[in-house]
Amino acid sequence: MASLHALFGGTFDPIHYGHLKTVQALALEVGLRQVTLLPNNVPPHRPQPEASAAQRVAMVKLAIADRPLFNLDTRELEREAPSYTVETLEQLRAERGAQQPLAFIIGQDSLLSLHKWHRWQQLMDLCHLLVCQRPGYDRTMPTPDLQRWLRQHQTQDASALHQQPAGLIWLADTPLVPISATDIRRRRHQGLSCDDLLPSAVIDYINHHGLYRP
Ligand code: ATP
Repeated sequence: MASLHALFGGTFDPIHYGHLKTVQALALEVGLRQVTLLPNNVPPHRPQPEASAAQRVAMVKLAIADRPLFNLDTRELEREAPSYTVETLEQLRAERGAQQPLAFIIGQDSLLSLHKWHRWQQLMDLCHLLVCQRPGYDRTMPTPDLQRWLRQHQTQDASALHQQPAGLIWLADTPLVPISATDIRRRRHQGLSCDDLLPSAVIDYINHHGLYRP
């Protein structure tokens, strides 16, 4: 059986330690050897990222240059249309075959609003979900139906994630990292320091390109 392949989608405007440290902890917890970062397009009706797609990719590359756990897949940015996770996963499933264990990593905030994602119920046919804790978001789903759905899929057996191709949810015991891209952009706009919130190579890039300026 091929080893579990994990994907981590995000806007990464910019990538920060809330992404990197939680996923590194998750990788140890469930035994991930490789995590593919998937920077996404933002649909035109939603607030656009401040950094361009090319800048977001450049920052991701700088952040992962000395972190061999991670690699990068820019397929969602190369599409004309906004990217739906379910469609990207269908594509990856077609490429990898029905038996390959695939997992999609999200933070707890994303789990709580997963039912608003395009064709969300089909996600479980395509992948496992690995959910990292996030400060300020509790573990109770917003409705009893969603709570039942979570219970149906939840596993406490990490080895099952490596044996089954899809369909399980792992609520990870990752450390709480109180960092968000919104807060980093706000701090930059206010001229505040962001040291310790993201890798210094990414801070240098932000300074050099005048991103998130006051
Ligand atoms: P923004 O503040 O702009 O919404 P963000 O910091 O939430 O950005 P995204 O790129 O939108 O970052 O997030 C990608 C994924 O990473 C999401 O699934 C999100 O839940 C998760 N994530 C982001 N920050 C953290 C964090 N500090 N701890 C755990 N998960 C996180």
